[in-house]
Amino acid sequence: MRKLAVVGGGAAGTMAALCAARGGAEVILVEKNEKLGKKLYITGKGRCNLTNACPAEDLINNIVTNSRFLYSSIYGFDSFSVMDFFEALGLKLKTERGNRVFPESDKSSDVIKALETALRKIGVKILLNTAVKDIIIQDGVFQGILTDEKNIGKIEADACFIATGGLSYPSTGSTGDGYIFAERAGHKVTETFPSLTGLKCSENYTAEMEGLSLKNVVLSAEIGGKCVFKEMGELLFTHNGISGPLVLSLSALHTKKLVQDGATVKIDLKPALDREMLDKRILKDFDEMQNRQFSNSLVKLLPSSMIPVIVKLSGIDPEKKVNSVTKGERKILIDLIKGFPLTVTGLGGYNEAVITKGGVNVKEINPSTMESKLVKGLYFIGEVLDVDALTGGFNLQIAWSTAYAAAKAFLKN
Ligand SMILES: Cc1cc2nc3c(=O)[nH]c(=O)nc-3n(C[C@H](O)[C@H](O)[C@H](O)COP(=O)(O)OP(=O)(O)OC[C@H]3O[C@@H](n4cnc5c(N)ncnc54)[C@H](O)[C@@H]3O)c2cc1C
Repeated sequence: MRKLAVVGGGAAGTMAALCAARGGAEVILVEKNEKLGKKLYITGKGRCNLTNACPAEDLINNIVTNSRFLYSSIYGFDSFSVMDFFEALGLKLKTERGNRVFPESDKSSDVIKALETALRKIGVKILLNTAVKDIIIQDGVFQGILTDEKNIGKIEADACFIATGGLSYPSTGSTGDGYIFAERAGHKVTETFPSLTGLKCSENYTAEMEGLSLKNVVLSAEIGGKCVFKEMGELLFTHNGISGPLVLSLSALHTKKLVQDGATVKIDLKPALDREMLDKRILKDFDEMQNRQFSNSLVKLLPSSMIPVIVKLSGIDPEKKVNSVTKGERKILIDLIKGFPLTVTGLGGYNEAVITKGGVNVKEINPSTMESKLVKGLYFIGEVLDVDALTGGFNLQIAWSTAYAAAKAFLKN
């Protein structure tokens, strides 16, 4: 019986261990935490958006980095295969808005339970509280792993899957160990960045609006004078900038540029109204509130925590009666509502990033098998690779697909 060592008991590691064991391999799964799937537990706000029920082509379109590398593995084990896989484990699923798939119970712990129960049932040896310290390679061939457990020490195996994840949310165990193993094995690791993260802004007025969530707004971003992003959706103000779905997408699509050059961001707070319609709307509100001061006249138009900020930015005397606000002043107000300005100075850190961009250079990995082109018997799966996707279940799909491809290839060898 061929023996496989899997390093990391997250999404990719558990899936790979289970698939390899089902194919008849002797599998040992090594996880440094006290339990499996600590990151899985916090996915989808504790509900685990485990995939996206869309055709493989759409999965590929939602992958931001190295989508071509993932072509074979995604087509080999697409979201419908993932759904079948989990349902066969007894996990009932449901599909929500945007094809996002969740466990029917809304509990990510049920995803982990389903995987763990199946792993134990089939006889995968699970070593918890055991960190892998090194990978032993001789003459370009994988030999074994070295653990930090004195009683265990070295584990010999025919192959090894590195499934150690990235660097984001390090408290879940993803501390970048796989990058070190890869480099020691002679692999290049591309520069890593926190991604799918909030953005820091230089304006301190975001703090005044902390916690305010805006729906159906249009966020546009310019980098180096060029518009690189314009999308409608939801965003959130934070103590030092902005976050929320639109901002996460912006961070994932332009990570490096945002770090290097920052960005000028504008929020259209009323995308359904053009400037003329908005002016009419403002005049109507002003008409209804004739004797009010300007600072008290925007209650129908804007969320309350935004009003003092917009009033201040407009430079219009807050105590001025609305019926004496001039056309020029209304223009300034419209400019602010149609293009609320912010200056992005950088990304949020790994502590708040959903994923890590960058990782093991995919040029040195076989895209059909996930095996290293440099070391025989050494495979890399999941987030440790230089691949990443947008939100919607696509990052877990990458973990499942690459895990399945590696297990299948290992069983064939
Ligand atoms: C807050 C949050 C929410 C998310 N929500 C979603 C979502 O809803 N849908 C989605 O598709 N994606 C989501 N993601 C992304 C998704 O969780 C990851 O892409 C995915 O977990 C990556 O799987 P992985 O197996 O490669 O790595 P991980 O799940 O990070 O697993 C790596 C494992 O390896 C272990 N390990 C590391 N080093 C060693 C070592 N030296 N020895 C032994 N073990 C080691 C770690 O302890 C860890 O358990 C979310 C991420 C975060 C942070």
